[in-house]
Amino acid sequence: MRKILLAGNWKMNKLARDLQPFAEGMSSTLEKLENVVIGKRPEVAIAVAAPLFYPWQELVKKARLPITIAAQNMHWAESGAFTGEISAGMLKEVGITMTLIGHSERRQYFGETDETVAKRTQTALAQGLVPVVCIGETLQEREAGKTEEVVERQLRAVTKVCPDLGSTIVAYEPVWAIGTGKSATTAQAQEVHAFIRKLLVDLLGKAKAETVRILYGGSASPANIRELLLQPDIDGGLIGGASLKPEDFSKMLLDAIDVVSIKK
Ligand code: PEP
Repeated sequence: MRKILLAGNWKMNKLARDLQPFAEGMSSTLEKLENVVIGKRPEVAIAVAAPLFYPWQELVKKARLPITIAAQNMHWAESGAFTGEISAGMLKEVGITMTLIGHSERRQYFGETDETVAKRTQTALAQGLVPVVCIGETLQEREAGKTEEVVERQLRAVTKVCPDLGSTIVAYEPVWAIGTGKSATTAQAQEVHAFIRKLLVDLLGKAKAETVRILYGGSASPANIRELLLQPDIDGGLIGGASLKPEDFSKMLLDAIDVVSIKK
């Protein structure tokens, strides 16, 4: 069984002073993870803005919280004249092991393309970071019946330069569902996840494809996460709004713990 990953995406939210209350709000649920056998234990990550790396890492270490602090983006070059960007080496220096890549907000507002997403993923893998590569269609593309075509194009751009995907985690995030409160239905999400899994089988072979985690993102919440996680090809969630509230994120983690005891 692929381990469930609940990855929060805090985007450009929260300050260092918000970390302690958040950790306190999550701690009793995080403790429950210890009752789950290690091989099946859900993983928790939170992708934060760079100024929060250091205070979060300190807090996580001190309180021994099972949370992976992740970045929201990284550049492909080792160093150079790229104002506003962060290199893999810089992330590693402050203990970051995972990074989002190609989030739709980066694609929409900051000119990220399939090619730059592929280059960032390639460097992340080469540097031993776990890339969480975001793919997904816009509403216009879905309504035009192009969902599969779009996610296939986005994923193939990555496998073109990273033929075995290494430790890559894929996040399927329909753009129309992000931050809108309008989640994909479980059936819609599973349908696309199954398509991605099949594509991964074609690209990487069955054995490897079975190990790649595919997260769902787009208005996931305490109201729908259980059903989503019960789907055979949904291996976790990339969670924006609901990950900002410790009570909501905790509830979602409790559901993940429960699902582990049911899911084959
Ligand atoms: C996201 O930012 O990746 C996301 C899925 O946001 P939300 O859960 O708020 O839709």
